[in-house]
Amino acid sequence: MKNIMLLGASGSIGLQTIDVIRNYPDMFSLKAFSVGNNTSEVENLINEFNPKAVYLIDENKAKNLQAKYPNLQVFYGEDLDLIIESCKVDLLVNAVVGIAGLKPTWKAIENKIDIALANKETLVTGGDLIIEHAKKHGVKIYPIDSEHSAIWQCLIGNETKDVHGITLTASGGSFRDLSRDQLVNVCKDEALNHPNWSMGAKITIDSATMMNKGLEVIEAHYLFDVDYDNIDVILHKQSIVHSYVEFNDYSIIAQLGTADMRLPIQFALTAPNHLKLNGGSRLDLKEVSNLSFEEVSLKRYPLVKLAYDVGRLKGNKPIVMNAANEVAVSLFLNDKISFLDIETIVINTVNNYDFSEVNSINDILRVNDTVKKYVEGNYSKIIS
Ligand code: MG
Repeated sequence: MKNIMLLGASGSIGLQTIDVIRNYPDMFSLKAFSVGNNTSEVENLINEFNPKAVYLIDENKAKNLQAKYPNLQVFYGEDLDLIIESCKVDLLVNAVVGIAGLKPTWKAIENKIDIALANKETLVTGGDLIIEHAKKHGVKIYPIDSEHSAIWQCLIGNETKDVHGITLTASGGSFRDLSRDQLVNVCKDEALNHPNWSMGAKITIDSATMMNKGLEVIEAHYLFDVDYDNIDVILHKQSIVHSYVEFNDYSIIAQLGTADMRLPIQFALTAPNHLKLNGGSRLDLKEVSNLSFEEVSLKRYPLVKLAYDVGRLKGNKPIVMNAANEVAVSLFLNDKISFLDIETIVINTVNNYDFSEVNSINDILRVNDTVKKYVEGNYSKIIS
């Protein structure tokens, strides 16, 4: 029996993680979970899984919950540290959205809890510190993202020294068939309409700008210890090949499957075993008439190039990029800026900030806060 703590239970990845846990009651036990502001499912989850601890942001809601479930440990506030220390688990699934996922990863490592990581910001902003910390405490970090899960699956049984390079596939997002000129007037609803995957709003917009792929390049560098020169990105509109590894003898091993996030989630919980995916569908290659692969134009998707640049520069640069993007996406979702303004804000903000070293999680959070406040207060100036 694997005891699991799930952070970010009400989000898209969180709900699908619960689905996986629900399908294997003899293998997994949900010991603790956190939600953000969406508390609609909390009581149903408590009744179904009987966890030891629950975290939610709102103090009043937490106190009401505590009154109703006196034997449950209920935590609230800004900090997830307390719930991480509250009970012993074998695996922490970090499905928190945004930079809020960084500290819980750090804390879980300190408590020697292996991590299934869906939170992108952890490795994008804190890659060097997190990997060193995890090595020091002997903690394993398993990827949940479909591309990184694919690479992981391809690498099992192989050695890093035999790897020539890895290639992340990209669907190209909602606007992949539009030229840059045609992007000028696109609206939010069109951007949120992803051709292949059903995901949260932030990642769907990141997919349309391909910032998402840029963030994944940085994550891949840290997860698999591969040099940026040996990480490639390729446009693959069908989202069937989820990524692949090329070895030194030119052999390529790829992972294929339908676009179902529960597969990488379940694999992160059951690896190296491939258990039946309840409710999943088989990929019938006879029905796939065409698999296409194209070069990603760095002119068409400038945020991919930016991600390689800041990934190599390290220091505060990836944090600045990530923070500027987080604010820009939220401005776009609130109809404050146009789609192309997202790129302008991210690129200009990265260029406006001088390089500095970061040496701690608090350094990262400080840079993140400063940049967010700067972009929130000055976005019209940055895009003009
Ligand atoms: Mg992905």
